[in-house]
Amino acid sequence: MLSVADITCRYGRIEVLHGVSLDVGRGEIVTLIGSNGAGKTTLMRVISGILPQTKGRILFDGAPLDRLPAHLRVARGVAQVPEARQVFAPLSVEDNLKLGAFRRHAADLPHAMERVYTLFPALAGKRHTAAGTLSGGQQQMLAMGRALMSDPRLLLLDEPSMGLAPVLVDQILDTVVALRKEGMTILLVEQNVNAALAIADRAYVLETGRIVLSGESASLAHDPRVREAYLGL
Ligand code: ATP
Repeated sequence: MLSVADITCRYGRIEVLHGVSLDVGRGEIVTLIGSNGAGKTTLMRVISGILPQTKGRILFDGAPLDRLPAHLRVARGVAQVPEARQVFAPLSVEDNLKLGAFRRHAADLPHAMERVYTLFPALAGKRHTAAGTLSGGQQQMLAMGRALMSDPRLLLLDEPSMGLAPVLVDQILDTVVALRKEGMTILLVEQNVNAALAIADRAYVLETGRIVLSGESASLAHDPRVREAYLGL
């Protein structure tokens, strides 16, 4: 479904991705592992169109995404849940969700919102609450809900469990699995490598802007390099 080939990206004169390639198949959960500063967020932003690549190709369903601005990539079915949630703090839960649906007809909104509230019942009673007053876990649910409002086929999830208590981490990752059961395709960046490998089909390891390892999650979880560098074993 998604094919990223030989992507290079720089901030000013500093190149931080040096020819990254990865594929995500329809209905897969693929996780991208790497230490701080490896370039995971940069790659997610290049795929969603927030940052331009300097080289390489991105194909989605066989068609190039590269030249499309971010909002048209959303229209094609690619939605990003950004690192640190980035909800619109003064706006209500409902208004945050509406912003995620900027490409859709008003008539579709009630159904799309009910889908989010069914997935995240904790948000249902907070429709008119300012997003900035929600707990970290609820803000993460809202960030995911906002992305789902665009009715994506590929969800780019950047560190959804960051800063959350273990019980909420489990809840968020259970939701990722539930979304996949509904047919969603997911590219997941997650610091909690053990949990990410447990739910993902495949994984890529990014180190200082290069993919250094890739494979089935189950086999990477047993790879000594992954165990030592990312699982602390
Ligand atoms: P983290 O887990 O800390 O979020 P990451 O793997 O997502 O790390 P990136 O945030 O993509 O890594 O950063 C990759 C490199 O690019 C790092 O060296 C970082 O310092 C640098 N970088 C990130 N954003 C910018 C920016 N806006 N301007 C300049 N350099 C940046």
